[in-house]
Amino acid sequence: PIRCGPSQTRQKTSAPQNFPSYESLRQMYDPEVPEYFNFARDVLDAWEAKEKSGEKVQSTALWWVNEAGRQIKWSFEELGFHSRRLANVLSGECQLQRGDRVLLILPRIPEWWLVNVACLRTGTIVIPGTSQLTERDILHRLQVSKAKCVITDDSVAPMLDSVAPECSFLKSKLLVSGKKREGWRDFGELLRNHSCSHECVNTRSDEAMTIFFTSGTTGSPKMTQHSHCSFGIGLTVNGRYWLDLTEKDVLWNTSDTGWAKSAWSSVFAPWIQGACVFVNHMPRFDTSTTLSSYPITTFCTAPTAYRMLVQEDISRYTFSNLQHCLCAGEPINPEVMEKWKQMTGLDIYEGYGQTETVLIAGTFKGMKIKPGSFGKPSPAYDVQLVDDLGNIVPQGKEGNIAIRVKPHKPFSLFTKYTDDAQRTADCYKGDFYLTGDKGVMDEEGYLWFVGRADDVILSAGYRIGPFEVENALIEHDAVAESAVVSSPDPLRGEVVKAFVVLTAEYKTRNKDELRAEIQKHVKKVTAPYKYPRKVIEFVDHLPKTVSGKIRRVELRNKEWGKS
Ligand code: ATP
Ligand code: MG
Repeated sequence: PIRCGPSQTRQKTSAPQNFPSYESLRQMYDPEVPEYFNFARDVLDAWEAKEKSGEKVQSTALWWVNEAGRQIKWSFEELGFHSRRLANVLSGECQLQRGDRVLLILPRIPEWWLVNVACLRTGTIVIPGTSQLTERDILHRLQVSKAKCVITDDSVAPMLDSVAPECSFLKSKLLVSGKKREGWRDFGELLRNHSCSHECVNTRSDEAMTIFFTSGTTGSPKMTQHSHCSFGIGLTVNGRYWLDLTEKDVLWNTSDTGWAKSAWSSVFAPWIQGACVFVNHMPRFDTSTTLSSYPITTFCTAPTAYRMLVQEDISRYTFSNLQHCLCAGEPINPEVMEKWKQMTGLDIYEGYGQTETVLIAGTFKGMKIKPGSFGKPSPAYDVQLVDDLGNIVPQGKEGNIAIRVKPHKPFSLFTKYTDDAQRTADCYKGDFYLTGDKGVMDEEGYLWFVGRADDVILSAGYRIGPFEVENALIEHDAVAESAVVSSPDPLRGEVVKAFVVLTAEYKTRNKDELRAEIQKHVKKVTAPYKYPRKVIEFVDHLPKTVSGKIRRVELRNKEWGKS
């Protein structure tokens, strides 16, 4: 059974018969949630001790590289050393108290990891934000979070300075830079001048640890609060079962530092397992070169990145260490999975989750993969499909994807939307937390994503999930990527409209002929009522969130003449 703290060393195997069955995963999952828990002390410091005693198999906790060829490798001991010094900066120089909030806006640089760990050590609440935030976003985030401290770099500091007068609660600003800036404390200098001896705060398991903003795919990002045990213990499922990590693994997760996925797969899940977190800090990383140049065993990225990768000729690369590929955040098209398998011999294991939940469902090693389904419920959750009142719908029928919260709320579910009791309460119906996503469960317990509740199209009485139509579209050689949304129609109420990005070789083809050809193709491979009745619109790009998710809401609003 799972206990909190570092994992037991186990031998990695690629022999399918040696993977625990899904049923035994569910049985094995029996986490111990103690009254007090702090990931830095109970997991990271424990790895450090194992490293020192020689019990740890390999000792790189963080392996960072950039395009200039610089690299940094930190062992758990070094991570501990630097993060303790930073903890002293936060509670000394910055006068932060336990429970105070720290807004962290840094790109993929080692300091980002240090701040995360130092906040754990001091019991301060870290609120990560992407470097792509605008001045308005930053003001909004500061005002709603009432952060007392901000840590960022040169690219964001000027925007912060211009909004800071409107944020009276902001007490200290730390700059990660080679240069000085007026009104800012120098991160590097402070770090060098502080002691590495620090006693970790004894946080309660249910105490607030982080607030992540959601991706903002459907609207304004929401402040989602998690406790120390929720990520620190809850992400064991991700690390051990889904990512299938051991101490010997090197995991490259490409998520931007502003999204919960970076906490999942670039901090907690790998470090619970004692694995090495690999980071490539490049403005536009060349995935194939990276995978072939470093001994990456486990690769996790967004579906959009796989859609791009399968368009490339990667035959000149060898990914000799790569064993396990994963994706999450959006549905992955079966066509893309198949192409990736042809190109690399590897399957793509899908994960489904939310900022609010950690992993809800996924395909786990040793489990049959059904392309188009994101797998089975995580052992941490009882996932059911329910109607809008929280009643379980019959198997095979579409419903809201929901997590049972009664009689016991799972500890890995978010605590609340910060300062928004109404929105928090609205997610719960009957005995369930409703994700806002629609799906279907088949007779073997696999979950099939239909779409976000708002993205489902209602046409002449039929309910159409955009994902299914997009899967059919991408099977056509001309389609690199697509987004399917509803469009107004006097007869049917709504009809299916597709926005399509063409593959390179089809870009110059006659558009009317191509449109008719693609329409015919979709009609052939899905139920006829699902084909894009309204014109297919060819576009150069699809609107996406910073994390690479298609913003169908933007296209839909355009169709319906809404701003
Ligand atoms: P917002 O809540 O602000 O609109 P968001 O829901 O995209 O943004 P996240 O918490 O980052 O913010 O994303 C969770 C959502 O992403 C899920 O509710 C689901 O709609 C989608 N998602 C995640 N993984 C998958 C997957 N494997 N298949 C389909 N959809 C997925
Ligand atoms: Mg959401």
